[in-house]
This record gives sequence, structure tokens and C-alpha cells, in this order.
Amino acid sequence: MNHGDLQTPINFLKGVGPNRSTLLQSELGIKTYQDLLQVFPNRYIDKTKYHTISQLERQSADVQIIGRITDVYEVDQKRGTRLVATFSDPTGSLDLVWFRGQKWIKKQLKAGSEYVVFGRVNWYNGRFSMPHPDMELSSEHRKGLRIKMQPVYPSTEKLSNRGITNRLMSGWVKQLLEELESPFKETLPKGILSSLSLIGKSQAMRQVHFPEDTTQLAKAQFRLKFEEFFFIQLQLLTKKILRKRKIKGFPFEQVGDQFHQFYKENLPFELTGAQKKVMKEIRADLGSKAQMNRLLQGDVGSGKTVVALMAMLLAIDNGFQACLMAPTEILANQHYNSLISLLVDMPIKISLLTGSVKKSVRKGIHEALEDGSLHILVGTHAVLEDKVQFKNLGLAIIDEQHRFGVAQRSKLWHKNERPPHILVMTATPIPRTLAMSLYGDLDISVIDELPPGRKPVKTAHRFDKNRLQVFAFLRDEIKKERQVYVVYPLIKESEALDYKDLMDGYESLSREFPMPDYQISIVHGKMKSEDKEYEMSRFVKGETQIMVATTVIEVGVDIPNASVMIIESAERFGLSQLHQLRGRVGRGADQSYCILMSADQLTQDAQTRLETMVATNDGFEIAEVDLKLRGPGDLMGTQQSGILALKIADIVKDNDILKTARYHALELMKLDPDLSAQENSNTRQTLDVLLKEKNIWNYIS
Ligand code: ADP
Ligand code: MG
Repeated sequence: MNHGDLQTPINFLKGVGPNRSTLLQSELGIKTYQDLLQVFPNRYIDKTKYHTISQLERQSADVQIIGRITDVYEVDQKRGTRLVATFSDPTGSLDLVWFRGQKWIKKQLKAGSEYVVFGRVNWYNGRFSMPHPDMELSSEHRKGLRIKMQPVYPSTEKLSNRGITNRLMSGWVKQLLEELESPFKETLPKGILSSLSLIGKSQAMRQVHFPEDTTQLAKAQFRLKFEEFFFIQLQLLTKKILRKRKIKGFPFEQVGDQFHQFYKENLPFELTGAQKKVMKEIRADLGSKAQMNRLLQGDVGSGKTVVALMAMLLAIDNGFQACLMAPTEILANQHYNSLISLLVDMPIKISLLTGSVKKSVRKGIHEALEDGSLHILVGTHAVLEDKVQFKNLGLAIIDEQHRFGVAQRSKLWHKNERPPHILVMTATPIPRTLAMSLYGDLDISVIDELPPGRKPVKTAHRFDKNRLQVFAFLRDEIKKERQVYVVYPLIKESEALDYKDLMDGYESLSREFPMPDYQISIVHGKMKSEDKEYEMSRFVKGETQIMVATTVIEVGVDIPNASVMIIESAERFGLSQLHQLRGRVGRGADQSYCILMSADQLTQDAQTRLETMVATNDGFEIAEVDLKLRGPGDLMGTQQSGILALKIADIVKDNDILKTARYHALELMKLDPDLSAQENSNTRQTLDVLLKEKNIWNYIS
């Protein structure tokens, strides 16, 4: 078999056939020979090690036992029957059990012959059983003992139910590797292979499936993990280079009157060092001929709004319009109001467009946008509607990007014949490791410094039984004229119960903090938007001391006088949510507090989350813990997890390899950006195939 034959559909492989190939494709995504070889073992087991039945523990995985079948029978069960074979060794007996494929298996089983069975055992009704074992005749097994480390391939329940055992899988892989005449093509440049002492592709592929020993295995894994990260980085870097070459942006060549006036007269504070640094990066982008595509990361309260505003002023100074989009109406409102107050006495026209803006007002906004008299549009998704046409949109800013889908972002992209510059702001710190691989084609700016004079929020974890003490603490804070948030979790799956908790909590607070001395606001998703606004505004004006809410206040709201954040059932929130919520306080000069209320019994993960919150205020540190707890897929949402479906590497565990790969990819692209040198031609070909497959998540397509 030739190398090119690796694209052969898997159903042609001996022993696979049409039914199994359908299963392999739906369960493990295996379509071709190559796909099969790229399903890497999860782990390896020592084939020379055997258990006796008397040695078994109640939950033993991957045990290998030598024995004989002494009895075979079928047992009726609710649906169909199950096949049971009694399997004995000199120390005892257990049941081998099949729920599917009984007929075929029954025919194969040779009572009396010696077998080696392999699998997981369960303890059930006082007896050990091994469902759907991998089994071989002892004679066969001995022949195969040249293999010291047996690969264990990923499987699914469906696969093992349908008789696609690990033995079959490894048999297919072995067969393929043996039939393959020409070695695997090397994909990495010689220079990198030698400077990192990497083993070749062919050797790595063979050793990863059937390692000679642990040293060889480690070398093979390192090489393949490196290769995987390396090509992701190359794809991201190539995209970035292409974007910069091909997509022309609007050059904002001058820093004009509006920017200067704002800086001199209106800016109410000195910018922090981090804000200045980020402004410089943005100005460099906007002033160049390429289109800006920048991610601005900054923890809650780090002062992203004023950076956004100054970027918009640059657009206006160069005769362009700008827009600022937020994920919720409350947040859009708040942005609108802060921009209005920051721009006081400046000749800049700014409007707010949300779902609840009246038709008549809307019409005026549309007209002013089209004739160019409106400079800045602030809004929610409403901004994306087709009816909303700009005269010349030069800069689009998106706040809190994780709430917007890719499709929506690309709509913005198409609002002009030339794409506007794009600045995406996020307060959810993305761990550096993840940002590197996900956003490698974007430029990233980080505001890593809070404005001066902020006191870090003090965080404590309290149990429900300490509630009275917590109330006493609240009373003291309110006496000092501070305001308090009490936040409840609300998720779709348990919505009814969650609302009940919220209303119960509201009632008990109302008893503890009765009118007229105390006033309480409540805001939740079932309220009409004008009622929400009304309740919010009472709290903003200081007419109420306590705001009871679901997570609708999670993003962005800025009320400096609020100094206590109580999070109810905190164990039910994710780390990034907890961090976002805590960011609602600590915005004024007073000492602020965050109290995490929870039940007594906590899962290990919940315990870690709460401990992390108590231990640190650093959003990046919290994001790293979150990444470790949840894994990258969950963290970024399913939509973005595709790229993280890595075949062999693990973003968290193999972080050092990722860094090495990124470094070498950058170096290579610096020397030979088109990979046109002869010694890079294999790398170029591999990259071209990957780019054609479009398996890299398109940030804005
Ligand atoms: P976020 O990054 O969470 O959007 P904001 O832009 O809302 O943060 O800023 C939080 C608060 O900090 C606002 O009240 C803002 O006026 C204030 N602020 C921003 N930059 C500075 C600064 N350099 N010095 C002092 N206060 C600042
Ligand atoms: Mg903000």
C-alpha cells in the first residue's frame, strides 16, 4: 500500500465493511485509513501482567485474566436476552456478559479452551462480571506477546455494544501500519527536527500505536503533540499575514480636534499606564493601511470604556462613524450614558438604538446614520438589522464578545464595502494559553492594571447557617449608606425552582429589612423591560439600598456606591461568572465585600471554585483555574470548541509544548512567510491541506 492510499475509505479495510464503517464514522469521525491512524491511544497497558479472579477489586478497569469458559447460557431480561459465559481460573469464577450480538458471539465461544480476557469488571449481586470483554485464545495471545504495551483506543458505549472492541481497533491499526510500504511523509522542516531532536514522522506514528518502551513512547508523543500545535499556529499566523496583506482598512491618518479636545478638556482622570499602552497599540493599527482586528482584554473595572471612546474619536476625526455594541439593553444604556457624560460640551452626536426604541425615534436615527450627521451609534443587536445603514462606518466596537455569535459579528463586517476596523472588548479574561491558540490570528491588547485608589474586594465564603451574621453585616454597611446586591442563580433547566428561591429570598430579606427604613429593588428576567429599568434606576439613584436580582446584572453595570455583593447558591455559578459578579463592586473608594453563600455540602470542584475566589482577585489566575476545571471546550462554548478538538495534544497539560511550537512557528514565518523555500515544501503542502479543510475556527469570516 502506498502513502497516497491513506485516503482510502475505511470500509475497504479488511474486517471493517459498510456497517462498521458507518459506526466508526459517526462515533469517532473515522472516514479514511488516515483517520484511523490518527485516533491515538488514550493509554497503554502491560500485556504481560495478569490478574487472578481472587485478586479482583470491586471496580477494576483493564484487567487481564487467563481462564476457561465452563458454561454458556442466555438470561431473559426486560428487553431481549443477555448472553452469559461462566469464566473460571484456579482461584474462582466470574461472568462474561453480552447484551448485543449474542448469536454471533455464542457461535464463536469455545467452551473448554483457554482464553485471555481483558476489560473492566463490575461487582453485581455478589459476583464479578465483565461486560463485552476483549478476548483471545491463549494460543493467539502468546503469539502477540511481542507487543509489550498494548494500546487502548478511545471508544464509546455504542462501539463496544456493537462489538467493536479494543482488540479489533488495535488489530486494524496494526494491519494498516504493516501494509503501508512507503513511510509517512515528514511534515516538519529539518532545522526544527534537529534543533529539538524530534524523531521522524514514521517512527513516531509506529511508536505511538505500538511502543517498544516508555522512552520511545514519550518521544513519539512529544513529536506528534509538537506537530499538532505547530500546524495550528502556522494556520493562525498565515491567516493573520493574509489578512494584513489583503484586507485594506481605512487608514485613520490624523489625530484631530475631537481627540485632542477630549484628551485636554474632558478626560476626567489620568490614564493608567496600561490604558496608554493599549491606546498606542490601537492607534498604530488604525493609522496603518491594514484593517484592525483586535481583542481588548481587561478585567472588570480596568477602564475599557474610555479606551473605546478614544478610538471612536479617532474615527470621527478622520470623517468616519463608529458604533459600540453591547449584549444587553441595560449595558447599552449604561454605555450610552457614560459616553454622553464623558463627551459633555463636545460637538459629537450620539444615539442609542435598542429593541425598545420607538419607531418614530428609530426613523430619525436611521436617517442621521445614512446622511452621516450621527457620529456614534450605541446599541444592542438592533444595530445589526439590515435596515440600519451607515454612511461610512469606520470602527465597530463590540463589548463582551462571548455573548455574540460569529455570524452576528460577520454581519457587522459587511455593513460597508470595506470592513470597518474591529475592536472586541472582553472582561472575561481568556487564559493566555488559550488565547494563544484560539486568537492567534487576532492582535491582542491587555489592560493589566486597575485605575489607582481601588481597594481590592474582600471575599468570604459563608454557609447558609451563618445567614443571620451576614444580615447583621449588611445592616452595618447600609447604615454607612452603602448599597448591596443579592444575586440568585437562574438557569433554564431549573427555572421554576430558581424563581421560587429568588422570590423566597426577596421575601425573607423584606422581613429582615422592612420598609420604611429599608427599600429593596428587584430585577429579573420575567419582568417587563420598563419595570426593570425603573427598578434599576431606583437603585442607581440610591433610593433603594438592596438590589435583589438574577444574573441580569452580571455584565457591566457601574454603581460605585454599591459595596457589597452577596451571591446566593454560589456553588452553582461558574468561576468566570462569579468573577464577573464580584466585579460589580469595588468601583468606588470604599472597601467592598463579596460574600459567597453556599450549602454545607460541596462537590470537590465547587469547593475549588469558591476557594479560588476567596484566594485571588486576579482574573487571569481565575481563568487558568477555570480552564483546568472545565477543559477548553466548555470554557469557550461549543461553538468555539471545534478547534480544540485536538487529536493528541492537550492545551492545559501540554502547555509547554504549545509554547515551544508557537515559538518555532513564529520563527519559521519570520524567515520564510510563504514557506517557499525548498526545505519547507513538505511543511507548505501539509499546511495547504489543512487550510483547505478550513478546520480552524474563523474568527470573523
Ligand atoms: P470596564 O473595563 O469594566 O468596562 P469601565 O470602563 O466601566 O471598566 O471603568 C470602570 C470605572 O473606572 C469607571 O467608573 C471609570 O470612569 C473609571 N476609570 C477608568 N479609567 C480610569 C483611570 N485611568 N483612572 C481613574 N478611574 C478610571
Ligand atoms: Mg465595561
